[in-house]
Amino acid sequence: MRDGRRFRIYPNQEQARMLSQWIGCQRVIQGAKIDEVDYQQWLRRHAVFNNVPVEGKWAFDQAYSHFKTELNPWLGDVPSQILRNGTYRAKAAFQRYWSGLGGKPKRRHKSNTESVIVTSELFQFRDDGLYLGSTRTPQKMQRVRLNAHRKFDRPKMIAIVRELGQWFVSFSFADNETVLSNDELLAIHAQVNEEEILALDRGVVHPFYDSEGRVYDPSDIVHERICQYDARRVSLQRKMAGQKKGSKRRNDTKKKLARVYQQKRRLIGDWRHKTTHAIAKNAPKVAALENLNLAGMTRAPKPKEQTPCGVFPKNGRAAKAGLNRVMLQMGLGIMANQLLYKLNRQGKALVLVPAHHSSQECSRCEHTSEDNRTSQAEFYCQACGFTANADYNASLVQRRRAWHILRSDGPIGSMETLNAREGPIPSEKPPA
Ligand SMILES: [Zn+2]
Repeated sequence: MRDGRRFRIYPNQEQARMLSQWIGCQRVIQGAKIDEVDYQQWLRRHAVFNNVPVEGKWAFDQAYSHFKTELNPWLGDVPSQILRNGTYRAKAAFQRYWSGLGGKPKRRHKSNTESVIVTSELFQFRDDGLYLGSTRTPQKMQRVRLNAHRKFDRPKMIAIVRELGQWFVSFSFADNETVLSNDELLAIHAQVNEEEILALDRGVVHPFYDSEGRVYDPSDIVHERICQYDARRVSLQRKMAGQKKGSKRRNDTKKKLARVYQQKRRLIGDWRHKTTHAIAKNAPKVAALENLNLAGMTRAPKPKEQTPCGVFPKNGRAAKAGLNRVMLQMGLGIMANQLLYKLNRQGKALVLVPAHHSSQECSRCEHTSEDNRTSQAEFYCQACGFTANADYNASLVQRRRAWHILRSDGPIGSMETLNAREGPIPSEKPPA
């Protein structure tokens, strides 16, 4: 199993200059290689068109020294491995394209996020930080301060990323623990009691409500900060609209705006990790979640508004509901995937449950009716008189369904449907 890490690093001014140079040179080689491959392929197509015989099968080569000319003497100032990795990146981009996984590779331009791929000849993790430079001359390597807040194993390749003026190192490494797959774990836990399943209902008022009565809400502080970020974003966008294109002031505003987006993204990402961690810890053996595909067909359409703070009264209940909904929509699939791997690492399984009418079904007698839902928050069964919090009742219904799915040999809600709809786990791993 592979695991990934992303740590903040603190290069000094000189080191930052060196890394910027590495980033720039690698991008130049990558771009040049992409152009070259484009051109070679064009030539071959042209040859076929004109009935000129084409020699042999074309293969991607990793040559790059011919890109070094007197026009770009600075390419000679960076280690050759940095340049070679530029061709490697171009190759990887074409392979993704040819196998239908990505778009046609394009020359990259400077943007907010920039990165350089560094292979093991040029870095070392030591106890007191990350060392950069040729490993052949260890005493000459430069120490960069590193904030390694979690344990990790030594990787063979790292990506150093500059993002809005901050530096990060990210990598993936082989993890010695063997983790059973979800299907294997489902088979192991097929005979669990209903009480050993933790079912989650996702709702409008609370993002998650579990079958033991716990709610997983973002804290008031998180809500408040999201409101602040949204307000700041709106004011910056207004400001930018009145500024001249290409002017220095407008570019400054643009940078500030990018930073606000980044802060909000990180805040929500952090909340997601904390929440999935808590759920995985609370689940006894199995966790159950609505199948998103089915949920998409039965739930109300997504609300259009993107700025809940502007639409709802501040700090009101409705405002929080709106925020929770928006937060959940920003990555329910990501959350499901995070939950899946966190559970599996602890030897627990995830079951996907069909979500139809779970909010109208009675968890005690299975009577299903629209009338059971007397209000948004209350459930009152018209047949047996069972009353409960509506979200709690729904989570109990899902727990029952999960239990039936586990015991029967019928089809188990496949993890593929999870990925098909929301895409695989996004780039938590460095580009490889
Ligand atoms: Zn009932």
